[in-house]
Amino acid sequence: MIDFEPQTAARKDAWIARRRDLHRHPELGFELPRTAGIVATELARLGLEVQTRIGQSGVVGLLAGELDGPTILVRADMDALPIQEENEVDYASQTPGKMHACGHDGHTTIALAVAEMLSAYRSRMAGRVKFVFQPAEELGRGAAAMIADGVLRDPVPDLALGLHLWNDSPVGTVVLADGAMMAAAGDFSIRVTGQGGHGALPHQARDPIVAASNIVVALQTITSRNLGPFDVGVVSVTEFKAGDSFNVIPATANLRGTIRAFQNEVIDLLGQGLRKIAEGVAGALGCSAEVQIDQLMIPLVNSPEVNARLRSVFAQVQPGVKLISDFRTMAAEDMSYFLDAAPGAFFFVGSANPERGLDNPHHHPRFDFDESVIPLAAELLASAVASYVIQ
Ligand SMILES: [Zn+2]
Ligand SMILES: [Zn+2]
Repeated sequence: MIDFEPQTAARKDAWIARRRDLHRHPELGFELPRTAGIVATELARLGLEVQTRIGQSGVVGLLAGELDGPTILVRADMDALPIQEENEVDYASQTPGKMHACGHDGHTTIALAVAEMLSAYRSRMAGRVKFVFQPAEELGRGAAAMIADGVLRDPVPDLALGLHLWNDSPVGTVVLADGAMMAAAGDFSIRVTGQGGHGALPHQARDPIVAASNIVVALQTITSRNLGPFDVGVVSVTEFKAGDSFNVIPATANLRGTIRAFQNEVIDLLGQGLRKIAEGVAGALGCSAEVQIDQLMIPLVNSPEVNARLRSVFAQVQPGVKLISDFRTMAAEDMSYFLDAAPGAFFFVGSANPERGLDNPHHHPRFDFDESVIPLAAELLASAVASYVIQ
């Protein structure tokens, strides 16, 4: 087992400086010219074979060992969020309305650090490491865009690894659950059409507001009456728009919302229930419903075998780290598409430090993490990759 600690100790200040530079200059979605440029330049400096503009603004760096072996995909996301930063630190965002509030500046820094550390071991490496820096994770579309552009070909990955900094847990914690750890997510819209009329003469109209209201109430029975008692799912109506006058019954009402579950079959069941209820209830009340459902994200599923390997590697290189295996969240992540293509693992690295006030949740305008997690997470990820390709 390689000891990466001399490298992390020597380089951690430079990595933290890089993270702060990325933090000062957040970019959104697929528009990441500065960030992708920094990533491509650094990967080239390390001697990796670099491809840019994969999935619009994604960057791929291939580190080829001198011996034959498997290809390990290491994924990091680069995009920030449309949030006005409220932190008063000298590395706060310099772009109004944009902020690295999810820690993707940390992920980009950590993956570059892993590329740097592993590139020193090329002569002992049996296999290849494909570093994938993706755009638009927050839109749920970056991974799919890179896959459509061929990121999973030439070479085809045998394994996929990734991490997320995690401010729900303190530094020194790693969360790594077997099977479905993060949810599948879909969004839906329901357009209820009735017949408009005078608010004083409801018998001459067919009221879409009353129909839509009954739909919202009836949708609550999907999780309580359509799902098995041991299956979990969420149906949330998050938008209800209808009418713009006190004495006019409008002709239409529009609902939108999200569905979540840990299995594709359960997401399908939620979608079917939603469609049946919306159309049936609207029809019973003299209206009609048009239902549109889009699945945004598939569930994120970790391989128990890869997890077992990672747990034993982490326990060897950082025996003090607390490993948590019993965990699931209804949040979704498009790392799920890489893990659907190749077995692998996605783990959360605790990044909070409550004593220093660094424990605001992800997507909060005062989100920030303890930067001591950068060398730690880089060591964990580098050690995990090395366990597959470096003897
Ligand atoms: Zn996020
Ligand atoms: Zn994130």
